[in-house]
Amino acid sequence: MPTYDFKCLECGHLFTEFVALKDKDKVSCPSCGGKVSQRFTGFLYTRKGGDGSGSSGGCSGGSCSGCSGCH
Ligand SMILES: [Zn+2]
Repeated sequence: MPTYDFKCLECGHLFTEFVALKDKDKVSCPSCGGKVSQRFTGFLYTRKGGDGSGSSGGCSGGSCSGCSGCH
């Protein structure tokens, strides 16, 4: 099951919810219970690690363990 990032439309609270695709419309803010919208920013880049194709190659440090393109 994937995780999704949400933002509360009422109070602006940002959170990540571990939820089935069919249930993500039922998610409400854990802080105020208000309506939330799904955030798509970074959706393709986070928590995938390892598939580095097509990314901008952000691993400039020496401690990258999930990228095959930085050796
Ligand atoms: Zn809220």
